[in-house]
Amino acid sequence: MPEIEVILADITTLQVDAIVNAANSSLLGGGGVDGAIHRAAGPGLLEECRSLHGCKTGEAKLTRGYQLPARFVIHTVGPIWHGGNQGEADLLAACYQNSLRLAADNRFISIAFPAISTGVYGYPVDLAAKIAVTSVQNFLKEPSSIEKVIFCCFSQNDLDIYQKILLSV
Ligand code: ADP
Repeated sequence: MPEIEVILADITTLQVDAIVNAANSSLLGGGGVDGAIHRAAGPGLLEECRSLHGCKTGEAKLTRGYQLPARFVIHTVGPIWHGGNQGEADLLAACYQNSLRLAADNRFISIAFPAISTGVYGYPVDLAAKIAVTSVQNFLKEPSSIEKVIFCCFSQNDLDIYQKILLSV
């Protein structure tokens, strides 16, 4: 059975096959985790991102990792929180599903996710974390190359929330 791990870390430091970027639809960089990933990867990442011509909400695209310890970056665009009645939950679940599908299609073994949409995009972290955990668990029910999924939290509060959810499901 593949392993699900929750850690408190800067995702740009992780040595995995792919880290997931909570990007915006332009894929041309932004703040938060997106900015941190571009800074750590160096200019090659932005150059490759330019060739991708953006990404729709809920979808995912792959680039190399450049100067990151991670070999690849999976860029996905989370939904902006508008109160929960505008398809946010399905779109957020699609981010996890499409990122994992891309990872499995490329035979990746390890992948790390940040808490997509819970920063500038305003998704309540407890609701987002439940979707993250259930989407990953559902995906891992079917056999794939993926052996390890890391939820990379950036605060102790987020870590506590993920751990509670993982213990309750
Ligand atoms: P979004 O626009 O999808 O909300 P943000 O980057 O604003 O994306 O926030 C998503 C999550 O990523 C937040 O929980 C934020 O604290 C976290 N985050 C920011 N920088 C990093 C980092 N270097 N490593 C891991 N998580 C990070």
